[in-house]
Amino acid sequence: MKKGIHPKYQKSIVKCACGNTFETRSTLPEINVEICSKCHPFFTGQKKIIDSAGRIERFRRKYAKYNKEKVQKKS
Ligand SMILES: [Zn+2]
Repeated sequence: MKKGIHPKYQKSIVKCACGNTFETRSTLPEINVEICSKCHPFFTGQKKIIDSAGRIERFRRKYAKYNKEKVQKKS
């Protein structure tokens, strides 16, 4: 491989919204996910609506804030 043009492929911690964390390898040191194999209904075998705890609403609020901060930093 050519040196200097490849991002570092390193150990990475994946953090899920359910509190589960696991290791993988990625170019990012940390990855945040909304759902993982521990809490996805396909893997838990439970039939449930994923948004029952208002997660989509929380997600939207989080990103509304994020976009606001981004705009403020620009000006
Ligand atoms: Zn999870």
